[in-house]
Amino acid sequence: MTLLIDLHRHLEGSLRVSTTLELAHRDGHPLASAAEPEELLVARGPLGGLLPYLARVDAAPSAFSREEDWVRAARECVEDAAADGLDYLEIRFSPWFIRQETGLAPEAVIDAVAEGVRSAPIRVGLIGIVLRDLGPERGYDQIATLVTRRAAFCGADIAGNEAGVPAAEFAGPFRKARDAGLRITAHAGEAAGPASVWDAVRHLGAERIGHGVRSVEDPELLDHLAEHRITLEVSLTSNLHTSTAPDLRRHPVRRLVAAGVPVALSTDDPRTSAITLSGEYAVAAPQAGLTPQDLDRIRDDARRAAFAWE
Ligand SMILES: [Zn+2]
Repeated sequence: MTLLIDLHRHLEGSLRVSTTLELAHRDGHPLASAAEPEELLVARGPLGGLLPYLARVDAAPSAFSREEDWVRAARECVEDAAADGLDYLEIRFSPWFIRQETGLAPEAVIDAVAEGVRSAPIRVGLIGIVLRDLGPERGYDQIATLVTRRAAFCGADIAGNEAGVPAAEFAGPFRKARDAGLRITAHAGEAAGPASVWDAVRHLGAERIGHGVRSVEDPELLDHLAEHRITLEVSLTSNLHTSTAPDLRRHPVRRLVAAGVPVALSTDDPRTSAITLSGEYAVAAPQAGLTPQDLDRIRDDARRAAFAWE
């Protein structure tokens, strides 16, 4: 049996265009009067960097202004994954970012998302994201929020402007997350180089790395990742859209696999990138030079790296 597993999918980047616009019209949100709202929500090709991509991810959440909207958002995220044939899904989101966009209490957002995945037809784990842009001091507050809803989460992550805010400064908050039993993944090696991945491993205790593709620049790091079974959550089309890779043919994923580094193919943001995970396996992966044997290994790597498989 071949398993289809997504370990790296943002709720904010999964919000459907149709639902986003329906809610925008309900509330008189600016997206409702935009001339071409889809252009604000979806990447059609390389955008030249991470930040313009994040702008498209981040354009939708402010339309989800009520707690019940986040129940629906989470339910639809799972429905879309199940319709694509997924067996297991980890959904990540930033309660504090959503508060910033909507004014909703972060705890209420977490409760709503947990409610939305409660009767999911597939296995689902939730990961709480610390938004690095808010700075290290707020890191403690963000982790504290996740810990107040500990039972909802299998893990914690850090995301946002990687090149602007180093992970090392969040060592204290992530120690608290680990003490609470949360598993750790961290966005690194996407908009910044191998040093960012080393930081995530050494200072945050990351067991998995979101993206991490720039690890390919440091042979010593590749050996470390392979030896310690630290899995890279690789999102091919997202890397194209953020211009982390120039094209799929030159994407470093083959070199990562060849170096023995565990890799889990992931979507990152299905709505923003207009993709499905099955499409990434069927279309993007062969274009990136991955063989059927590579993909078998990658499916196995993903299962072994899942935070809430049992
Ligand atoms: Zn991501």
